Amino acid sequence: MTGSGRVSCAASLAVFGLLLAAAAPQAGAAVLRPGADRAGAASEAEVPRTGPAAEACRNSSRGHRGILRAAAPSPQESSPMQYNDLTPEEEWVILRKGTERPFSGRFWKHSAEGTYVCRRCNAPLFRSTAKFDSECGWPSFDDAIPDAVKRQPDADGKRTEIVCARCGAHLGHVFLGEGYTDRNTRHCVNSLSLDFLPVAGKELHRAIFASGCFWGTEYVFQRAPGVVSTTVGYTGGTTPSPSYRDVCGGKTGHAEAVEVVYDPGKTTYEALCRLFFETHDPTQLNRQGPDVGTQYRSAVFTLDETQRQTAARLIAQLRERGTKVVTEVVPATTFWKAEDYHQDYYNRTGRKPYCHGYRQRF
Ligand SMILES: [Zn+2]
Repeated sequence: MTGSGRVSCAASLAVFGLLLAAAAPQAGAAVLRPGADRAGAASEAEVPRTGPAAEACRNSSRGHRGILRAAAPSPQESSPMQYNDLTPEEEWVILRKGTERPFSGRFWKHSAEGTYVCRRCNAPLFRSTAKFDSECGWPSFDDAIPDAVKRQPDADGKRTEIVCARCGAHLGHVFLGEGYTDRNTRHCVNSLSLDFLPVAGKELHRAIFASGCFWGTEYVFQRAPGVVSTTVGYTGGTTPSPSYRDVCGGKTGHAEAVEVVYDPGKTTYEALCRLFFETHDPTQLNRQGPDVGTQYRSAVFTLDETQRQTAARLIAQLRERGTKVVTEVVPATTFWKAEDYHQDYYNRTGRKPYCHGYRQRF
């Protein structure tokens, strides 16, 4: 039944959490943030680091759906121009000048080459070459495309707001003199205010992994360096166009899986494979924590011979170290995208994975 699996997952969560804490305190509830040099990653989605960047970005009041908020609707809301449809969360940020939760947006660790455009009107705003990691939890750029971004006093009387010069969409704030880069400028922008256009012709690679509940698998890979995008879906079975209800029924043969698109100039398939093995338990057969069934099996769906050899080699290494890996390595078949409400689940809901935590295995 649709949802019933999730209900039982949730009901088991508390017990599983206790078991996990008792059995593997080194793993804890913290989920790996690869490439990050910060400690205490588990709490980062709610609380930015202290320091000038975090303080400057942070708004003190929490509002609508866990999104930090401020101020009133912008006058551009009633503009007659035709704009893109926005989700309620995007409306809250773009039209009502809200602020998304730090470390929650899809672009704060985004590293692909291309152009960031206005989510509302598609105007090009920032180049990826101007993006840098300020560790404030929001995408940061030390330069904007000429005349694309307008500065104006913020309603708080202190900060400088930045908006799309074309449509007035709220983007975030700009801070000067912090010394992050030579330009000494930080455009602190909400991911929800942006869309991204990759460089045309840029070669990107794919990988497909299954490691239990795909919400958690996606959460892990979204935070990996070099990952450009992720999609949750179903694969490895026989039923065409399966629904979540079908897959929960256990007769489709499909596994919950994540398709990862990555920039091979920034990461490698082996690095992603290692991340896969170190963020779930590859010794559990047809289950992952409280989620039981073949749809939760551990599997690597390979797209070429090189991927197969890489996965097989890492499994051999783990077995040499005594890890009884049951992960299956099989050629990828059609990847069926899951329903929209499963996509980007943890970032949208502000919740945390219950199965996926980092544990060093290599
Ligand atoms: Zn715009």
